[in-house]
This record gives sequence, C-alpha cells and structure tokens, in this order.
Amino acid sequence: MAAKLTPLEIMAKLISFPTVSRDTNLPLVDWVQEYLSSHGIESHRWVDPEQPHKAAVFAHVGPWEEGAVVLSGHTDVVPVDGQPWDTDPFTVVEKDGKYFGRGTCDMKGFDALAIWALVEAHTQGVIRPLQLALSFDEEIGCTGAPPMIEAMQQVLPKGSAVIVGEPSMMQAVTGHKGGTGFATHLVGFEVHSSLMHTGVSAIMQGAKLIDWANQQNSANMAKEPGEVQAMFTPPWTTCHVGMIEGGTAHNITAKDCRFMMDFRVVPGESPGDWEAAYLQKVREVEADMQAIHPDARIDVSKHFDVPGLVPEQNGEAEALVRRVTGDNGSHVVSYGTEAGQFQQAGYSAVICGPGDIAQAHQPNEYITVAQFDAGHDFMRKLVEKLGGYFPLP
Ligand SMILES: [Zn+2]
Repeated sequence: MAAKLTPLEIMAKLISFPTVSRDTNLPLVDWVQEYLSSHGIESHRWVDPEQPHKAAVFAHVGPWEEGAVVLSGHTDVVPVDGQPWDTDPFTVVEKDGKYFGRGTCDMKGFDALAIWALVEAHTQGVIRPLQLALSFDEEIGCTGAPPMIEAMQQVLPKGSAVIVGEPSMMQAVTGHKGGTGFATHLVGFEVHSSLMHTGVSAIMQGAKLIDWANQQNSANMAKEPGEVQAMFTPPWTTCHVGMIEGGTAHNITAKDCRFMMDFRVVPGESPGDWEAAYLQKVREVEADMQAIHPDARIDVSKHFDVPGLVPEQNGEAEALVRRVTGDNGSHVVSYGTEAGQFQQAGYSAVICGPGDIAQAHQPNEYITVAQFDAGHDFMRKLVEKLGGYFPLP
C-alpha cells in the first residue's frame, strides 16, 4: 500500500492541476484514480464523448449493495484571468490561518476531504457503503453531473443520500433556487442612423427584452412570498442580464446584439414557465423587428438549466448531516449546485461543505484552516458512523 496522504496534501495536489472549466481535467482524474488504486480502491471514469478532454470520476467502497452515502464534488474551477492574485493560484499557500489557492473553497478542499474519507472508509471497513462522485463543467452550468449520475447508476449499486460539498460553513443546506439561462442574439438590419426608421437596431430592440426583465423583477419583488419562498434571499425569482455586446458604430443601426438572460427561480415557480414567458416576449419583439425588415430575427438558445433543490420532508441526507454536525438550523442558499440534479435522479440530497461561498470565485480565494479542519472532523465522524460505531439515521 502506498502512503496515505493527509487531506491538506491531497488538496495541494488537486489545486496544482489548473482545471479551469474550459481546459482539460484529465491529469487530475488520472491522479485521483492512481491514488485510489494505490489504496486498493477501484474507480471509474466517464469521459464526455463531445469533449474527450474532460471526465468525471466515481468510486464505491464498502459492501457491494445499495444505500451508499455519496460525497459529491466538482473538479473544475473558475478562471483566474485578470484577477489580482498575491500568490500563485495553483499552489496552496498557508497564511494568517487561511489556505489560499484557486478551488480551496470552491471546491477542491471538499474534494480532498472526500477522497481522504473514501480511503479511510476502505481501510477501516464500513457497514454502509460510501461513494465518491467528482464531476466537471459545474462552473459553466452544471452540465457534467447529469451524465455522470447516469453512468454511476449503471456501474455502481445506487446510493441513497448525497452530500454535495459546496461551501456552506458546514451547515446543512436543504434548498436552493433553480436556474435557467438563455443566450439571446438579435439580428437587426443596418442603415445609416439618419434613416433609422428603415433599419432595425438590434440593440434598441434588445433593450425591450432587457426592460421586460426589469419589469418582471419589480413585479416579482411586489409578490407576497410563500412559506418556502420566504426562506430565500431574495424571496422572489430574479431575471438578470450580466453580459451584453453589439453594434458597429454610433451612426449605424446595430446589426447584432447578444446577451445572456438568466433566471433564478424560487420553489413554487417553474423554470419552464419562465422560459415560456421569455420566449413569448421574444416572439413579440421579433414581430416588431420583422414589421420593419423581414430578415430581422432573434435566436435564443438555452445555455444552462439547473433544477432547484427542494427542501425534503424528513430527508435522509439532511438527517445524516445533522446527526454528524449537530446543526439543527434550517438553511437555504441562492446559488445553484448539483444537489438538485441528484435529487431529480432519485437521491436524497443536501449541501454541506467547508468554507464560505463569499470566498468562491474571488482573487485570493481561501478556506480558513478552521473550516478545513471542521470538514476533516466531519469526515472522521462520518466514516465512524458508516463503520457502525454510531447508529445511522
Ligand atoms: Zn462549486
């Protein structure tokens, strides 16, 4: 058997692979598989056929039966381009009680703890199985997890309780909003702006859609939230345009205007209904454009679609995490995760991981040593419980 690495050593190794979502994560996956294999653990990879430089990796230890606890993380990180880092983002640096590095918080710190726990569970022996699931492309719309979950279900006995280790300060988070986003491209008709009544400005028509979003936000804000909705901040669905480009010159009606229209949807409202409402407005604006010139049009394509995590009644994953952490508060978050995708695939799911989401995606991203240690403590107790030393819920 190879030497066991500490969680910190594993995290340092994972962070040394610059697995920004657009780039390959295969060297990281190779390393994880070799490390697990050096401790006698068989693991599996699922390579994305459409982008073979990316893969998910998953593994099962303990009795070969259903009902595993699943530790779920993602291997990709957001870019560091243009961010003012004081240290090398791909080297873990400890300073002032914090570990700095891209992904320390979101979420290679948790990935490292999960790998550590898997090796411990395998070597100590467990009564209830433990699974590891590490995805890719989480940061660009949670598109890697659904095929990974499908592959896991074909290869491994089905797990039942999933802990998604996104940073939650080790609190059990039982709900998050669903999200869906649309790449929107308006194609106008160019004329000199002195004759703008004969042209179609893609920008000025696009502004109608963006103002529609403003109106929806005001209307949503004015609604009385339901009981579950009231748990969220803000307790309403938000419509947001975070990027826009278009136009050629100040005196030409714009040929093109592109933007991203995103919705974060509270439970009780459906992303599908928001999609339908948006597309209806798109067709209305397109009709305005085509009344001026028949070649004008609007193309819309979905760029992400992440189901919400719905708080479960007596959820198994939540009960398990509460049993380990002793936390009885009730928490929801407004960011999307893969937890809703596991829930949709028939698992009980909860979010619980070390670190504060406020540090995610930032320059000088860090996780405090205290949070990382709290995560380590959680994994130690979890493995003990899986070994039967404490009764499980
Ligand atoms: Zn994350």
